[in-house]
Amino acid sequence: MENKDKLLEALAHIIEPDLKKDIVALNLVEDISIEANKISFTVKVSNPAMHSRRRMHEACVFHTQRAFGKEVEVDVNIIGLKTEEREPEQRKILPGVKHIIAVSSGKGGVGKSTVTANLAAGLAMQGHKVGLVDADIYGPSVPIMFDCVNERPEGTEQNGRSYIKPLTSHGVKLLSIGFFADANQAVVWRGPMASKALEQMFKDVWWEELDYMLIDLPPGTGDIHLSLVQSIPLTGAIIVSTPQEVALMDARKGIEMFQLENINIPIVGVVENMAYFTPPELPDNKYYIFGKEGAQQLADQKNVPFLGEIPIVESIREAGDIGRPAVMQGDTETAKAFLRVIKNMKESLSSAEKPKKEEIA
Ligand code: ADP
Repeated sequence: MENKDKLLEALAHIIEPDLKKDIVALNLVEDISIEANKISFTVKVSNPAMHSRRRMHEACVFHTQRAFGKEVEVDVNIIGLKTEEREPEQRKILPGVKHIIAVSSGKGGVGKSTVTANLAAGLAMQGHKVGLVDADIYGPSVPIMFDCVNERPEGTEQNGRSYIKPLTSHGVKLLSIGFFADANQAVVWRGPMASKALEQMFKDVWWEELDYMLIDLPPGTGDIHLSLVQSIPLTGAIIVSTPQEVALMDARKGIEMFQLENINIPIVGVVENMAYFTPPELPDNKYYIFGKEGAQQLADQKNVPFLGEIPIVESIREAGDIGRPAVMQGDTETAKAFLRVIKNMKESLSSAEKPKKEEIA
């Protein structure tokens, strides 16, 4: 038997703990090099945490030396599986969801929920199957933005197990942490309790197949974010910021959190909300009240895509308040602004390449 086959046969004894299959069948072994007395290879693991990498390392050394003898030197490089490399069916949770995108902002009040709601409604308008998870424990606003404040999700029995069935509004399947507590209670969601409640929104909900799942994250970069981004197989993250310096500084921290080595979630792009104001009587004028192109510059500095600008428009707030996202307002400049962000988001998802500024119409 070829040495390489012998090695793969040995490594096939190792089960990827999250994906529940052996690492050879899952194609997680790469860059094999076998020399006289030294064997080296790379293994990708689902959970990039230090303890999980260490355990995989020990298992690889053990099985390699069992096949080739204790005297061979085994050099194993363990790296985290990038989210975009994960085939949906390899996932333990949400196997039927093609793209899982977290929408994040450094600061609160920059319009993260508004942007998420409009992206979700816009994608649904285009015929995609869309889910929206409102994980903003500090101020869940999806129930208002989708006009379902007084509704509660029902249960459903599937394969002998009970699940929660998401609500549907404007063609979007929704679930909000706001449905699990009344508005006054929301402040008690803290630490582990919040993380557990959030995890349930993915594991105990009958999402079925979705093209896009958008997650409205709480603002900031705390423990809740870390546990969420590590437990949910995200395809990528969108960062929303306003052009103000303080918001941009926090947005930068948000980007850096996703780019941490042991998190490593691709940034789908940056959206600049409340970018400019156009008075109704001067429709061709754009006033950059909070400064111009700050989010574009941040995206350039961080070498991540810029997805577009959303103007500050009264109807965007009104649309949110009455539960009918502004993207549904037909042929308006506002709706077009959200549709452009959707177009750029899709391009960013389909190519790892950064779109050039002039391509963003
Ligand atoms: P976040 O989720 O970041 O806390 P929200 O989406 O709840 O922010 O928005 C905060 C407030 O600003 C809401 O009242 C919302 O309607 C309003 N808002 C958000 N984006 C815009 C916009 N582009 N134009 C006008 N109002 C906006």
